[in-house]
Amino acid sequence: MTTLRTQKPLTVIWWLRRDLRLEDNQALHAALQAGEQVAPVFVLDPALVRSPYASPRRAAFLLDGLQALDADLRRRGASLIVRHGEPGPVLAALIAESGAQAVFAEPDVSPYAARRDQRVAEMLPVQWVGSPAVRPPGTVLKSNGEPYTVFTPFSKAWKALPGLDGLGQGSFPAAPLQIRMPAGLESLSLSELADLLAVAPSGLPDTAVPDPEFFPAGEAAARRRLAEFTRPAAGRRPPVENYAAGRDRLDLDGTSRLSPYLRLGMLSARQAVSAALQALGSAPDSAARQSVETWYNELIWREFFIHILYHFPRVRRENFRIPDVRWRNDSTQFDAWCAGLTGYPVVDAAMRQLTHTGWMHNRARMIVASFLTKDLLIDWRWGERFFMQHLLDGDPAANNGGWQWTAGTGTDAAPYFRIFNPVSQGQRHDPHGAYVRRWVPELRRVPDEYIHQPWSMPLPLQRLAGCRIGADYPAPLVDHSTARGLALAAYRGG
Ligand code: FAD
Repeated sequence: MTTLRTQKPLTVIWWLRRDLRLEDNQALHAALQAGEQVAPVFVLDPALVRSPYASPRRAAFLLDGLQALDADLRRRGASLIVRHGEPGPVLAALIAESGAQAVFAEPDVSPYAARRDQRVAEMLPVQWVGSPAVRPPGTVLKSNGEPYTVFTPFSKAWKALPGLDGLGQGSFPAAPLQIRMPAGLESLSLSELADLLAVAPSGLPDTAVPDPEFFPAGEAAARRRLAEFTRPAAGRRPPVENYAAGRDRLDLDGTSRLSPYLRLGMLSARQAVSAALQALGSAPDSAARQSVETWYNELIWREFFIHILYHFPRVRRENFRIPDVRWRNDSTQFDAWCAGLTGYPVVDAAMRQLTHTGWMHNRARMIVASFLTKDLLIDWRWGERFFMQHLLDGDPAANNGGWQWTAGTGTDAAPYFRIFNPVSQGQRHDPHGAYVRRWVPELRRVPDEYIHQPWSMPLPLQRLAGCRIGADYPAPLVDHSTARGLALAAYRGG
């Protein structure tokens, strides 16, 4: 007599965190190779919702991204399992329910994530696969085994390591065609998740991208944006070939705007670097090549700050380099900075761009960060937190790196005596005032000549432009040259 043996298929969990994509997902790929059934799981950690760095806007983007991912999974015969609670116990319960034998996840680097992941790994069979960076932290080191703290040697070492050839040909795991998952696992609905996140889905479609300020979530939108930026279309050169010339212009759409997608892994860093290498290979002349190379280096800056945060988690709380500055920390001035009411048009335009859209141009980030830390002598940590609360791309590594760099306190930082002048920065990078006029409508009718220093407009002109300083638009919060002197003294410990 023969007995029918029903063997349960080997089941594993794919724990997704900041890798919301199916293509080039090394953790998912490893899970699919290890298990016959894969349960895709997202765990909403209540600590992240309560964090002072939480952002409703980023939460809505995450929610949209999860919705898009769920739709992609359903097309492949699976669906997203959403749970709420401390990840260790939640995953342990899921393992018990599904009989899963392992959890596959991409490691993260923020100090909080690293502590959490260590706790989870102590209780469960977790396999860490892949990285939010092309070169995982710990793999780019000096010959004596120490981490780099200066960008240029880091980037040289980064580029010299093997493994870029394959990326140049775009060879990485494709999105699976089908995913078999265990049946009967309960999941929160996405509207329950929205309630827990206290946000609503934005409702933005992931189709055409008519406005650069608009960030539809999801892998398809991310890949489309990457292709539009790096590939020639209809006989036109791709924008990346003009990046070097346009990247600092606030009034132009000269950068990729991929940062929110990289932040939540709707695009992998490898996909972005691969596109850069392919664009380098097809650049028609040295100017185009130079432009692509500049963009490629920005992707490596992202890697640099990931490595810095990994090796020096203390940067999250303290200056890397210099002893603490004697900050003034005037909260009324801080509120004016947050609201875009400092009286310096380029600063105010940038802060309003941030609060209206969840994104800010890199040059503008440097200008407002310099203004906060140098002109107002407000602790960079205040600005860092406000950015985290508003940026779609708010990322502990890049944000901390950017703030400490601009404040002059970081690893590879601008020297403390380099203090941005908000008037000349505006004149140079927004020469006709289009950026200012877009975000600060009070200044719309101010002539070009005065757009970056409207307080110098004669009174009759102020009336004519409908912009009386002190009534329709604030007078400057501080005088830049006086503030500059005070900042130099404070930084010198005076
Ligand atoms: P592109 O110019 O097209 O660059 C391509 C990619 O390279 C970006 O998407 C980003 O992933 C990476 N990149 C570019 N510049 C940097 C940089 N200086 N540091 C690290 N990565 C970089 N970037 C974030 O992703 N999250 C943040 O929270 C963040 N906070 C910042 C705070 C300050 C004060 C400063 C000065 C910079 C900050 N940046 C941050 C870096 C940079 O401003 C943004 O990455 C960039 O503006 C995003 O626009 P983009 O995608 O069009 O960039």
